[in-house]
Amino acid sequence: LKNTFRPVRDFAKNSSRIAKATAAGERIADLLEEEPQICEAPHAYMAPRFSGHISFNQISFAYPNGRKVLNGFTCDIAPRELVALVGPSGTGKSTIASLLLRLYQPSGGTIQIDGHDISDLTLASLRGQVAVVQQDNFFLADTVRENIALARPNASSADITAAAILAGAHEFISMMPEGYDTVLAERGASLSMGQRQRIAIARAALRGCPILVFDEPTNGLDPDNEALINEAIHRLSRRATVIMITHDMASAANADRILVLSDGRVAEQGTPQELLAKGGVFSAMQADRSPFGRGGVHALYG
Ligand code: ATP
Repeated sequence: LKNTFRPVRDFAKNSSRIAKATAAGERIADLLEEEPQICEAPHAYMAPRFSGHISFNQISFAYPNGRKVLNGFTCDIAPRELVALVGPSGTGKSTIASLLLRLYQPSGGTIQIDGHDISDLTLASLRGQVAVVQQDNFFLADTVRENIALARPNASSADITAAAILAGAHEFISMMPEGYDTVLAERGASLSMGQRQRIAIARAALRGCPILVFDEPTNGLDPDNEALINEAIHRLSRRATVIMITHDMASAANADRILVLSDGRVAEQGTPQELLAKGGVFSAMQADRSPFGRGGVHALYG
């Protein structure tokens, strides 16, 4: 869909096992090629384990090519809050996630996690605590178990199963011919899109990060899978701060709070109920009923 996260396909990149995998290796090559010019501060220190309180303070940002995206973006996200980031296509939702991972440096404003300015932290200690689940996740032609444990190769079977339960993946895995030892086809081709997504969520859950970012997690899924993914995200949000970028109204309605982004800043925010009662942009999107696909949003915003 877009390449905003391409530089960090998966933070599992540090795993030597992955470096050996062709598919992942290609992505590491992408990463090296595209890694934006972010330097660790000379005084950078290791972040302690986050509780997950995230503050974006008056963030402005333009891409190196001059494309201005954010302009005074401000929001405060509480530990274990589930926040949906919605808004027109191209308005900067994924960019916000990239800034949180410090793939780019804002031109103005600060991002703090638990009061630590993220530009003062070592990149590893920041990125090691933020798991990203994208739409196109990579898979090895290996067992389900190995695929879930990608970022934590030494994880115990109990931990892998617990992560799969959280992700709503345990049931279908258990029904596979050899359960967790079933070997998956290259690129996860033997799984449905929803199953692949749930394995990716299990992989993120296994990392136990205090911050999780989902980039359009239900895009292209049927309602049943969509519901399963939304339940999984809800479960995870009781353990980690979750930022969910979505065009899907049902997913947004599942959040504790919705931030509607427009013109590079928060145009509207509140609980789904508050926004509906308010009768603003979100309410118009909801009235549209259909997941607000690109055309729909453009229509709404003219
Ligand atoms: P969508 O809803 O389509 O996923 P979004 O709200 O997540 O969009 P972003 O992906 O953050 O939007 O992109 C914001 C703007 O920045 C878009 O105009 C996009 O084309 C541009 N953009 C994104 N990544 C880059 C990049 N690496 N270099 C230059 N411009 C970029």
